[in-house]
Amino acid sequence: MGQEQSQTRTSPSSSTPGEFDLIERFFKRRSVDHPNSGIALGIGDDCALINPSNHQQIAISTDMLVEGRHFLAGADPYLLGRKCLAVNLSDLAAMGASPLGFTLAIAMPEVKVDWLESFSNGLWDMANEHDCQLIGGDTTAGPLTISITIFGQVPKDQSLSRNKAQVGDDIWVSHEVGDARLSLGALRQEWSLSTEEFTEVSQRMHNPTPRTELGQSLLGIAHAAIDISDGLLGDLSHILRQSSVSADILIDQAPGSKILNGKSIELQRLCKLTGGDDYELCFTAAKEKSAQIKELASRLGLALTKIGSITERTEKLVRLIDGHDQELSSSLSEQYLKSFDHFK
Ligand SMILES: [Mg+2]
Repeated sequence: MGQEQSQTRTSPSSSTPGEFDLIERFFKRRSVDHPNSGIALGIGDDCALINPSNHQQIAISTDMLVEGRHFLAGADPYLLGRKCLAVNLSDLAAMGASPLGFTLAIAMPEVKVDWLESFSNGLWDMANEHDCQLIGGDTTAGPLTISITIFGQVPKDQSLSRNKAQVGDDIWVSHEVGDARLSLGALRQEWSLSTEEFTEVSQRMHNPTPRTELGQSLLGIAHAAIDISDGLLGDLSHILRQSSVSADILIDQAPGSKILNGKSIELQRLCKLTGGDDYELCFTAAKEKSAQIKELASRLGLALTKIGSITERTEKLVRLIDGHDQELSSSLSEQYLKSFDHFK
């Protein structure tokens, strides 16, 4: 969209908007409430221009969502618009970067004006909430696919990253984990939930909250961080491997919602430890930072829970410890770890 040199595609009928009409109508005419000062030039030229502040590095991340694989056919377009930007904002948060702008490439089998109206409303709402401007992109015909590349900035050499966890660090998780998995299991009929429960927990799957402010606030406090997209244990394992350390996880300390905490301990563990799509942050920080982290939690009004600690690298990447301070049997541990390739 910023790159308007891409060829105009002819409308199949006079009532169906062509590519430039789409851009004008849904993606260009609207601007965010407070234009991001880091964007020197947005949509409308061959390229967008970004002005990073002094002593900042540009953080870049891309996520692609494909219908039928990452979201169900017929997904609510408003929530889809929100989510496809939220997952990218979540990656910036995991580095402690603040959002600048994003590009959007979208393939659609056919132009559906109502769908685009809702989708772009969701996208713009999320963009406004996080001061992140749409600065370019492209549209084409094809199976419904949404690809966003996001740009942020972070003070030079201060970003959080996966390879900075240190032995002795505490491991923390924001808010609650497991509701997205709880709702997915109900959809797949692995277990059942009441209508009220399902409505509430499925919000977590369809409308995740990127922890933008938390990520930025953790600069100078946390060592390593990652956003939980594939599951707490699976994502934590990236930190452990890249930092060459192991971890003890107090599995029953993992924070869950009231609904999830009302389920059996087995179901809670499965959802909290292995469920993806929560987009909370998991981070490590020196023990001495505990008080600062608790203050941060109260300032942000966001629960931050200690769930374990980083240990010297041993053969076992993770030891799972139950509420009685006992390590889970290897068969039980296996059950939670086997879903992740990284543990094999
Ligand atoms: Mg990520």
